[in-house]
Amino acid sequence: MRKTIIAGNWKMNKTPSEAAALAAEIAQIKDAACEVVICPPFVDLFFAKKAIEGSNIKLGAQNCHWETSGAFTGEISADMLIEAGCEYVIIGHSERRQYFGETDETVNKRTVAALAKGLKVILCVGETRDERVDGITEEVIARQIKLDLKGISAEDMANVVIAYEPVWAIGTGLVATKEQAEEVCGFIRGLIKELYNAEVAEETTIQYGGSMKPDNCAELLAMPNIDGGLIGGAALKTADFAAIVAAGK
Ligand code: PEP
Repeated sequence: MRKTIIAGNWKMNKTPSEAAALAAEIAQIKDAACEVVICPPFVDLFFAKKAIEGSNIKLGAQNCHWETSGAFTGEISADMLIEAGCEYVIIGHSERRQYFGETDETVNKRTVAALAKGLKVILCVGETRDERVDGITEEVIARQIKLDLKGISAEDMANVVIAYEPVWAIGTGLVATKEQAEEVCGFIRGLIKELYNAEVAEETTIQYGGSMKPDNCAELLAMPNIDGGLIGGAALKTADFAAIVAAGK
């Protein structure tokens, strides 16, 4: 049975002391029926880790370089994240693709390296508004999935979570309808089956992300191919995040 995973992407929010306080509040969420992950900024990781100690909350980061160390100013390695207590890393978020020159090639390199080091990868894919209007959503998603997962084995897929995040729904308040989200998540599962096999497709967690909130999470999470959420804005408010976690079964 594949896991339902609710992950909070804190983006560039919260100083270390603020992160410790928020993580401590989130650690109070009890009886979650799903896996819960928080992904604070790099400098917050140690503080957040300490705050969630003794809880079931997992720690993740928001990016990771493919080299182990070296002259890569501003980057961070998988080893560094693991030592800071991370189990997960988000790779290929649309903000990285949009603002920081991330390509399918670099997303693939980061993913391969993170998996090789033992991190679980939350791999983000999604179409822009123009691509949806042009009717090429599936083409875009298929290209991303194929290139981003290049060289990744069926065995490695046990540590890959796919987050379907339509770019037009991220941080905009525009949420994909449950039918739109389900359609693309189902399409992604079909692609995984084509690229790997039926078992891998059945076992892969596919999240939806894009303005998921307490008032829309239940209907999205009830869809058969949506196995959780990658949450931005609502992950910064404990009550909202807790409500989404409660809907994640
Ligand atoms: C995200 O950043 O991954 C995201 C889904 O953001 P938001 O929930 O704010 O749309």
